Amino acid sequence: MSTRMPGRNFLFVPGPTNVPDRVQRAMMVAMEDHRSSKFPELSISVLTDLKKVFKSDSGQIFIFPSSGTGAWEAALTNTLSPGDKVLASRFGQFSHLWIDMAQRLGYDVEVLDVEWGEGVPLERYEQVLRADKRHEIKAVLACQNETATGVTSDIAGVRRLMDDARHPALLYVDAVSSLASIDFRMDEWGVDLAVSGSQKGLMLPAGLGILGVSQKALKAMDGAKSKRCYFDLADMIKANATGYFPYTPSLPMLYGLRESLNMIFEEGLETIFFRHHYLAEGVRAAVLEGWKLKLCAKDPKWYSDTVSAVMVPEGINGGHVIDVAFRRYNLALGAGLAKVAGKLFRIGHLGDLNELMLMGALAGAEMAMLDVGIKVTPGSAVAAASNYWRTHDPVPKKKVSREQQFYASHSTGSIQG
Ligand code: PLP
Repeated sequence: MSTRMPGRNFLFVPGPTNVPDRVQRAMMVAMEDHRSSKFPELSISVLTDLKKVFKSDSGQIFIFPSSGTGAWEAALTNTLSPGDKVLASRFGQFSHLWIDMAQRLGYDVEVLDVEWGEGVPLERYEQVLRADKRHEIKAVLACQNETATGVTSDIAGVRRLMDDARHPALLYVDAVSSLASIDFRMDEWGVDLAVSGSQKGLMLPAGLGILGVSQKALKAMDGAKSKRCYFDLADMIKANATGYFPYTPSLPMLYGLRESLNMIFEEGLETIFFRHHYLAEGVRAAVLEGWKLKLCAKDPKWYSDTVSAVMVPEGINGGHVIDVAFRRYNLALGAGLAKVAGKLFRIGHLGDLNELMLMGALAGAEMAMLDVGIKVTPGSAVAAASNYWRTHDPVPKKKVSREQQFYASHSTGSIQG
């Protein structure tokens, strides 16, 4: 039997996402001297332009040759001392892993456990912060988009309650699966440490940990006693000041980042957020109205525009759906992690994608579900999603819709040929 699977693999895990051809081509470069007098042109341009993606004028951006996890660690160790109190909530595998890291690094974490399928519990955060009269809590952690459950939290709300409680703790936000796909406003929301990575909305391979740091957080570095070396921001600040890195950076990744930023600015950040919402709504129509299945997200206010976690019926192993989708249909879906292992599969809908790519994923997931005995109606996902997409604008109203563009370019006013 042939082991070759013809055609493209349909990659619909919520990261790594599809790397656009333009970005792939930009990464096909011969290696260069990262200490040349020309190198800073590239590094300074990406560091400067990333600020626009974080929506920050006053903050500073750092790029580590790591993944998002490295940026988590950099955020904590550069600003905290062992034993410092941290407030965090856990409602999925990624919010859990950041808490686990904070505990292993020796911080005293007050963990608020929340049902998986919900997000950051604003009222409980507020109670805890108001009760902390001596301001012992130094860090407030929030995961903007919990990739394991497809839940988005209200980060503006976290800032509001911290301000209302007049609490001076630093605000740390995990924006790994939201940056450049779901609105994120570092300055406006007073985010002090914004953590992200390259392999999601930035449409690159994994390999860069990206961190936005506010001026307040930069000042906190002086008193922070946690041990740090590779992730020490002080080394990075010194080297970045002239456009260099304290160690060998990944050239292809930086060239890829340059091209992905070009693509982001060509489409426009707000249009990108709009597209992600529009595509996500089509997927949700497929899941809820087409298949008549449930999402892990408990309420529409938690719905994520970058990933949908689809609950499989009792008695069915979600892992089985994923395996059939992969082996039989060349479609990669995201697995259920930890507490929700086997109970769901995830469809990533972030990065460089459109309706018809998602149609492939929906159709493939549907076939795999039918194959393992889930009684969904054949064709129902495509019907529901297409109904949504055909009747909604793919771009914000003030921009010309794709349909209008099509007709404008095809109606010249005179009939030719
Ligand atoms: N935080 C969130 C929300 C994530 O989705 C992930 C990875 O998927 C991480 C953190 C960890 O990032 P990485 O795998 O790049 O280390």
